Amino acid sequence: MRYFTSPYNFVYRENRKVKIYDTTLRDGEQTPGVKFTKEQKVEIARKLDEVGIHEIEAGFPVISSYDEEAVKAVVMERLNARILALCRPKQKDIDAALRAEVEGVIIFLAVSDLHLKYKLKMDLKNAIDMALWAVEYAKDHGLFVQLTAEDATRTTLDSLLSLYKAAIDHGAERIGIADTAGCIRPKGMAYLVGQIRRNFDIEMSVHCHNDFGLAVANSLAAYEAGIDAISVSVNGLGERCGNAALEEVVMCLYALYGVDLNFRIEKLRDLSLLVSKFSGIPIPVNKAIVGENAFRHESGIHVAAVLKHPFTYEPYDPQLVGQERKLVFGRHSGTEGVKEKLLSSGLNLSDEEIAEIVRRLKSLPIGHKIIENSELIDFAKKVLEEKK
Ligand code: MN
Repeated sequence: MRYFTSPYNFVYRENRKVKIYDTTLRDGEQTPGVKFTKEQKVEIARKLDEVGIHEIEAGFPVISSYDEEAVKAVVMERLNARILALCRPKQKDIDAALRAEVEGVIIFLAVSDLHLKYKLKMDLKNAIDMALWAVEYAKDHGLFVQLTAEDATRTTLDSLLSLYKAAIDHGAERIGIADTAGCIRPKGMAYLVGQIRRNFDIEMSVHCHNDFGLAVANSLAAYEAGIDAISVSVNGLGERCGNAALEEVVMCLYALYGVDLNFRIEKLRDLSLLVSKFSGIPIPVNKAIVGENAFRHESGIHVAAVLKHPFTYEPYDPQLVGQERKLVFGRHSGTEGVKEKLLSSGLNLSDEEIAEIVRRLKSLPIGHKIIENSELIDFAKKVLEEKK
């Protein structure tokens, strides 16, 4: 079996579709210090819809009247994406979602011993009664209902199955696994999904947190084990270390699993920049898919090879995700790349002159700003001028 995929020809093609539901406007907004205005929420929702995201969790309407209005403003855009809201199993939460006119709700409840004892201060039976009442209430009011077990990855399988069974019996159309504290391993996630799947023939979703940097890996493990919907957020925003990054999950599915969701992935970088601007949280330069360095090369060996064929050091074409290839020059530069770049720009240089330019690049002081592709010619001219 071949263990890799190639951008030329996806050898491994997984045809099972999966829904992507974005929680940038809900969990993403719970990032400490982040608060979107109503207008910003609408703009982000429009961009998510342009990309093709199937569902948008637009907020937690019961929090405040402003939050309720913001969720409603997103609903009023009449996007293609299905708009969902988060609710606790409480009537006032579901009433707020109904006033915001969302199509569905995600009702969340933890039945892990830890949460029952310290947070909810109730036993399993009372918690389940509360959940099934809420599911029924939401269903009676025409909502699509997902029942999510919060802290599912630290809950006994028996408790989880009892909660899901009650929810399904009372009309829940999807059950959710939340790795609330981000503490499961990919194999554990695959096992959990498999165990639940054995018991229920119903749509299942997963919501992963990144406390150990495994949110994307766990989401993909869930996909491999048969999950139907994956919760993501743009730039991986969310509580603490955030959630599974939308751009990473979508591109992994596309390029590594060969799942074409028919998304406009060339808009991923724009989406990422928009959310970074509104959240005030910069995109790390080395962020997968959308980071500034994702297709930027400086080291001599890499630049020389990329000029001959980009796939030598790139997994896929940067334009696919709205990025561009950037060659930069500095202390790590090598003769071959510099030569190829300068000669192809029409400069007629001797080997000796090129060697001098490379020497000067290599002796740039530490901390000197790197020389962008477009600046190399000016740098070369300056070096030769000074040499005369
Ligand atoms: Mn969460």
